[in-house]
Amino acid sequence: MRQPLIAGNWKMSNNIAESVELVSRLREMVSDTEKVEIVVAPPYTALGVVADVIKGSNIFLSSQNIFWEESGAFTGEISPSMLKDIGCQHAIIGHSERRQYFGETNETVNKRLKAALKVSLTPIVCIGEVLEEREAGKTFDVIEQQLSEGLNGLSSDEMEKVVIAYEPVWAIGTGKTATPDQAQEVHQFIRKLITQIFSKEVAEGTRMLYGGSVKPDNIDQLMAQKDIDGALVGGASLMADSFARIIKFKT
Ligand code: PEP
Repeated sequence: MRQPLIAGNWKMSNNIAESVELVSRLREMVSDTEKVEIVVAPPYTALGVVADVIKGSNIFLSSQNIFWEESGAFTGEISPSMLKDIGCQHAIIGHSERRQYFGETNETVNKRLKAALKVSLTPIVCIGEVLEEREAGKTFDVIEQQLSEGLNGLSSDEMEKVVIAYEPVWAIGTGKTATPDQAQEVHQFIRKLITQIFSKEVAEGTRMLYGGSVKPDNIDQLMAQKDIDGALVGGASLMADSFARIIKFKT
């Protein structure tokens, strides 16, 4: 049985006061939720205060990125153990905005992934095609390349700890959600690839999130899909009531 995981990516939103207010309200609203792993990914500046607010609750803390070196002359970067130190248990890796604006590649995704695993952070690895790739019929080729290069060199034991987020880039922040069938088709394909690269057992245990304009009014249909195990949520995670409704999806 794969435990559902719902993660909220706040991106570059919320100062310290706003972060405390949002996560305090969320904590109250989801305190009775047991079956879902709930994750919030605030900006770096709010990780510490959010860690304090969620102490003793059912909410986990994630970073939005991670660097692969442990320490040294890397101005502006944050190391894996620094993220652990501040209270993170998860790390988002390879988000499409990082690929698009900050030169993230499958190779750097792979380095970050291995660095996260080394300190026992749960990696949430993002993959997904842009609109032109989908329209050119290249979705599966893109996914296959992102996955095989991004997961390169991982053992089956390591892969068991990895969470994959399929986020069609054309659906992120656009209000255009993939239909449940479109999302399921790619998730099924990813599970088949993981079977080929690792094993059926590893693939059956791998949690896969869908991301791209997930909202209270589409989460139920998405979660009803066989290979969708959760969601990575941007915009709708910035309001406690809409994120709480997503966490309390109905199947
Ligand atoms: C995201 O940030 O990964 C995302 C999917 O954003 P949104 O839900 O706003 O489309």
